[in-house]
Amino acid sequence: MAQRLPLIAGNWKMNNNHLEAIALVQKLAFALDAKDHDRTEVVVLPPFTDIRSVQTLVDGDKLKIKYGAQDISAHDKGAYTGEISGAMLAKLDCEYVLVGHSERREYHAEDDALVNAKVKAAFKNGIVPILCVGEGLEVRKAGRQVEHVLAQLDGALKEIPAEQAERIVVAYEPVWAIGTGEVATPADAQEVCSAVRARLAELYSSEVADKVRVLYGGSVKGDNAPGIMAEKDVDGALVGGACLKADEFVKVIRYSE
Ligand code: PEP
Repeated sequence: MAQRLPLIAGNWKMNNNHLEAIALVQKLAFALDAKDHDRTEVVVLPPFTDIRSVQTLVDGDKLKIKYGAQDISAHDKGAYTGEISGAMLAKLDCEYVLVGHSERREYHAEDDALVNAKVKAAFKNGIVPILCVGEGLEVRKAGRQVEHVLAQLDGALKEIPAEQAERIVVAYEPVWAIGTGEVATPADAQEVCSAVRARLAELYSSEVADKVRVLYGGSVKGDNAPGIMAEKDVDGALVGGACLKADEFVKVIRYSE
């Protein structure tokens, strides 16, 4: 079985201007040591306006912290006011991009077809998509979470070849747990993350499924990260609120201590 390097990614959402971004990344870099970076991949996902500042800091100080964006346009270039292309993100050396976050699906009407186009745009530009999937409360109450998430996964991966699919990161984020303080139990997270991996094996192969990192996201903090991360099919966390404080984010990164 493939040895998957755990990934802890911080989604800053619409927080921190470019000066605050520098301060937060510096604080994080100062707190982390070589051991942290050896056992965990650490990624920050700041707003677009901060990325150049983060890039300069990471390059200048040779930091091991990686970074990416929170969204990507499905289009290459042209008359798409307000959008940011994959080529622009690649030029800033973004390694990752969030695609299909529930806040984009909800407030910007992103459907599975658009999410699929964005996954394609990311790969076209050499950026790894962190594909967010997850059910709302009604679906969870009806016990249809696995079915719902697998439909989102199928939609997002349409026409994505195995050599790209094996590099994708999938973040299972139950919408009812995002920003609510209500975290899924480790068993809830494992149920859906293992179903995601099984579907990847069906769509591609067990080799591909073995390589893909499946994260859990939704009110992850230092104190609940160890239990969730102990699950077999959970390979990391997508962290919102708790990543805005360096100390708390470091606690999540050190979940195994
Ligand atoms: C998120 O927005 O991806 C997220 C997981 O947020 P929070 O950790 O605040 O629930």
